[in-house]
Amino acid sequence: MLKVSNITKYYGDFKAVDDLSFEVKKGEIFGLLGVNGAGKTTTFRMIMNLIEPNSGNITFNGRKIDYDITDKIGFLTEERSLLTKLTVKEQMLFYGALKSLDEKTILKRLDKLLEKFGIQEYKDRKINTLSKGNQQKVQFIAAIINEPSLLILDEPFSGLDPINIELFKSVILDLKQKGTSIIFSSHRMDHVEFFCEKLVILVRGKSVLEGYLKDIKNDYKIKKIVIEGDVKLSDLKKIDGVIKAVKTSSSYEVSIKDESYCKNVFEYLKTVNNVTKFALQQPSLEEIFVSKVGETYGK
Ligand code: ATP
Repeated sequence: MLKVSNITKYYGDFKAVDDLSFEVKKGEIFGLLGVNGAGKTTTFRMIMNLIEPNSGNITFNGRKIDYDITDKIGFLTEERSLLTKLTVKEQMLFYGALKSLDEKTILKRLDKLLEKFGIQEYKDRKINTLSKGNQQKVQFIAAIINEPSLLILDEPFSGLDPINIELFKSVILDLKQKGTSIIFSSHRMDHVEFFCEKLVILVRGKSVLEGYLKDIKNDYKIKKIVIEGDVKLSDLKKIDGVIKAVKTSSSYEVSIKDESYCKNVFEYLKTVNNVTKFALQQPSLEEIFVSKVGETYGK
């Protein structure tokens, strides 16, 4: 289990991470979320022991993270860092050796992974001759060639087409199934919702919301009602308890202060003809994120 306890990191006078704590258990996928500059990459670098926190500590299975342990961690960095003049095989031999693997093991795992990602034919090609998406597959393979117990994925899907996003998703879920703990950062909340059972949202390095996604959604008071029918947007906006009402391509979406205001919307709909849909929904993570980050900014 990864345990991050009260870590703080300053760059000069600037506090990039502020008293952050969280835990990621075996086989759990954890989302580290925040707008640009919130402190995600800094946190990843501290976990990888590339930089030291000014205070607090980080342990993996009860031990401080040192080079022995980083052999069992995989890190897909946001800025891609392949040695592009090498061939795919040469690159993997290099990365694998950094993770203390012998050549035979690296080549055996590489063949399996190249097949999984459908790029066997590129094994002896120089990386700079591959497309961006295929380079990203190579980078992903480099991050998991050591069969990590902990995998850090910083924006793993950026630049991928929808088919390859599905492929990456299935590989990530496979790894989770095998017990890998995964920390995941993305600006795409739909991807986070798909994967992460637990998450933290950072604003200026500080946690503003954390916990299990299910609990976060249940605790979030504002609910959404989806309506299809001949309603008037201006009427919806006037209903007591309605915070926001918008028209989408196929329906109306109404945000209410809390579930108790649902009946007011329902009463209004009784006065309207032709209502074909009325559904009370949980807010999306995207809505919670925007609202939580929005209310914290400017403070
Ligand atoms: P993004 O989503 O844009 O990748 P992030 O959440 O990963 O952002 P970090 O890269 O951790 O954010 O940066 C956090 C803050 O620390 C930013 O304000 C950044 O400018 C600052 N920062 C990061 N690295 C350094 C550094 N080496 N020296 C000084 N400031 C830094």
